[in-house]
Amino acid sequence: MQETEGVIKYKLHHTLKPLNNALDLTELNVWRSLLYQLELIGQRPERYLGYAYGNISQRIKGEQFIISGTQTSGFSQLSAEHYCMVTKVHLSHNSLQATGLCKPSSEALTHASVYAQNSAISCVIHAHNADIWHATQALALACIAPDVSYGTPAMAQAVTQLFQSDKLNKQPIFTMLGHEDGVITFGKDFPEAAFAMINTLAKARQLTTTTLK
Ligand SMILES: [Zn+2]
Repeated sequence: MQETEGVIKYKLHHTLKPLNNALDLTELNVWRSLLYQLELIGQRPERYLGYAYGNISQRIKGEQFIISGTQTSGFSQLSAEHYCMVTKVHLSHNSLQATGLCKPSSEALTHASVYAQNSAISCVIHAHNADIWHATQALALACIAPDVSYGTPAMAQAVTQLFQSDKLNKQPIFTMLGHEDGVITFGKDFPEAAFAMINTLAKARQLTTTTLK
């Protein structure tokens, strides 16, 4: 099943105002730029009908987190106006409250559902990568079933079920089989979340690369 990127499916209560000046977005932004350079976040005319893909977030406090804005993934560099603060989450009502000069990523609800699982999770990365996604079975990656759409209560429920299973114990990564090339990693910090993504990418590429001797 394929579906269009970038369409916000949750109910959004958005307040259009700049983020608090005291927030330091440097670490988040540097990791986001690296992921862009690896094309794990981006925008290409030949991929997903040209829609921007991938996003990144960082927990601030409690259920609040900063996330890259919707349709910003095509920019090589972001500034503060491209980020948005999710201030309240109602997973069961499929709704979010957010503040910022842009709206949150269409996948903010999936990020919120990951944060809701464990207070030690501070970072979530959502990338699109065909090598990882197609290697779901070969690498025995945890995954969300193909009939679950992103940005829906069903996805939030499926994420909860995944965390309640033992499938995420080995590595903090899962693919979303109903969301073409969709991969999520998470961690206590960016190095942990990014390593899970890049390490899995290296393993996936080894599956399809000719043996070098
Ligand atoms: Zn996506």
